[in-house]
Amino acid sequence: KPKPGKPASAVPTMQKPSEPDVATEIAAAPAPAEAPKRLEMRFPITVKDLAAKMDVKVADLIKYLIQHGVFASIMHPLNEATATDAAHAFHFEIAPQPTLEEQLLNLTPPDPAKAIPRAPIVTFMGHVDHGKTSLLDAIRQAKVAEKEAGGITQHIGAYEVLLEKGRVTFLDTPGHEAFSALRARGANVTDIVVLVVAADDGVMPQTIEAINHAKAASVPIVVAVNKMDKPEANPQKVKQQLTQYELVAEDWGGKTIMVPVSARSREGIDSLLEMLLLEAELLELKADPTIPARGTVIEAKQTKDRGPVVTVLVQQGTLRIGETVVMGHLVGRVRAMVDDRGHRIKEAGPAKPVEVLGLPEVPQAGDRFMVVTDEKLARQLAEQRQEQRAQRATAHPKRITLEELHQRIAEGKLKELRLILKADVQGSLEAIVQSLQKLDTEKEEVQFRILHAGVGDINESDVMLSAASDAIIVGFHVGIEPKVQVLAAAEGVDVHIYQIIYELVGAIKSAIEGLLEPTIEETFIGRAEVRKLFQVSKSGMVAGCMVTKGSIRRDCVIRVIRGRDRLAQAKIANLKRVKDDVREVQEGVECGILLEGNMDVQVGDLLEAWELKKVARKLS
Ligand code: GDP
Repeated sequence: KPKPGKPASAVPTMQKPSEPDVATEIAAAPAPAEAPKRLEMRFPITVKDLAAKMDVKVADLIKYLIQHGVFASIMHPLNEATATDAAHAFHFEIAPQPTLEEQLLNLTPPDPAKAIPRAPIVTFMGHVDHGKTSLLDAIRQAKVAEKEAGGITQHIGAYEVLLEKGRVTFLDTPGHEAFSALRARGANVTDIVVLVVAADDGVMPQTIEAINHAKAASVPIVVAVNKMDKPEANPQKVKQQLTQYELVAEDWGGKTIMVPVSARSREGIDSLLEMLLLEAELLELKADPTIPARGTVIEAKQTKDRGPVVTVLVQQGTLRIGETVVMGHLVGRVRAMVDDRGHRIKEAGPAKPVEVLGLPEVPQAGDRFMVVTDEKLARQLAEQRQEQRAQRATAHPKRITLEELHQRIAEGKLKELRLILKADVQGSLEAIVQSLQKLDTEKEEVQFRILHAGVGDINESDVMLSAASDAIIVGFHVGIEPKVQVLAAAEGVDVHIYQIIYELVGAIKSAIEGLLEPTIEETFIGRAEVRKLFQVSKSGMVAGCMVTKGSIRRDCVIRVIRGRDRLAQAKIANLKRVKDDVREVQEGVECGILLEGNMDVQVGDLLEAWELKKVARKLS
């Protein structure tokens, strides 16, 4: 017989041991050896709907729930845990319903047998002024313009280079912030990162940031040691510095391809391109060009003459003129396509960047698109995304916080605590890393990983990396500029700044052990004096009060003060002014207060109203 699980509930269970379990009885009727039947549903689900799905009587389900301490009526919504447990008891297995997006994607899945090699998509990263833009331009000029008489290169956000042995696609917006901004929106487009390091300057702070952004995304790195034309170029020093970041050159026994180049003299450009093809070959990048296209928006703008112009990268399938696409929250028809040479084209296969005309509005970079074969599903999906967008406009994206660590891990949404550490000086940074490494977390279910550790204020790069990788930013003796703070808030990124190493390490330890208390801010709202008591029912004693200071609000927490002692704290179950339920009672007005949990209140007690709010961490 299947054993019923216990639904999570705050209400204590009232099951009598002698009573047979209703679910067990019902589930036992069909052959018990049979595998549980799968049901797809979304949560919360009402008792009525769950019963209908399982084809059991509502009364039986309610009886089961009551036996397990959940006092639910027919229209009561059940959360995922409770519904899953209940269904399990009735011998059903619950699978979350596929989203509309999944349904659409599943209509035409890519066929591995039809997949063919595709061009790698490459992003340039590195410290400012080390030559990312110059290299992108040098490659474009050498490989695009010269080949075609009169061919005008168009800046559409990405371009493609045709070589004897294959193609390479470059994203035109270099830098790790742009890279992680796309990732934060759920778009993983880059296959290879080219880390540009100037041979005269060597590894600089943003070089390290770039390395860590690429690593956090598990994207392979090819190093371009640039400015080799300069007399002070010292590629050996660059190689040596990079070994500290686990980038070891092949000729030093490592695995990282490093190519000396010069954007100025164009020395080494060809071998860089060759190496990119080589790396791509190792990655075995493939796509099925035969299915309806799906991919990502790289760039989008409003133009006067052509309306919204959207550069997309097709990632699977082939995009054709005349097709209907869902792009972000928009639905449109592909009216025309223009490639990076300014040519009008009729179709675009995998890894080909194209400008698409015909969308009703401008989507956002990072939005996914797909060609749809089922118009009805397409409209539904677009509507759903529109709703989500409206919700997002009012609510910030919710990312992980230290307080929620355990919950998120329990939900299976997170596997480890990822940290970005910033400190004022190298010495403190090392001390912190060492203390963290000494934390004995082996027995804990939560492990941590430092994605990036750097010296200096918390910057945009840290926030974007955190947003893209679900990491928490922890600072020691550092600042955060207002605009970075605004970005962190907008991205929903959790930032903690400490002034004492011991406290920093302690907080992380507590978080890992699941002992961290959320920070609560208490605000005094008002006070009332108990003048009379009324027995309203067997359980409840209403305190007839006079508000002597501030006000009493229905949503406040009440602290009962007797003499010098604080006796208890309780929520308000009922707030009345004469006979009416009210939300707030002002100073000088009489009211009746019923507290939750049958609290002991006496005449003469003071009832203090406090607002308790979980606060955003103090950022200094
Ligand atoms: P980015 O900030 O990484 O995009 O760097 P830029 O491409 O804007 O280059 C910064 C400066 O370095 C510019 O003045 C370039 O002319 C110069 N530069 C870039 N590549 C080279 C190179 O290979 N050799 C020399 N001598 N200068 C270069």
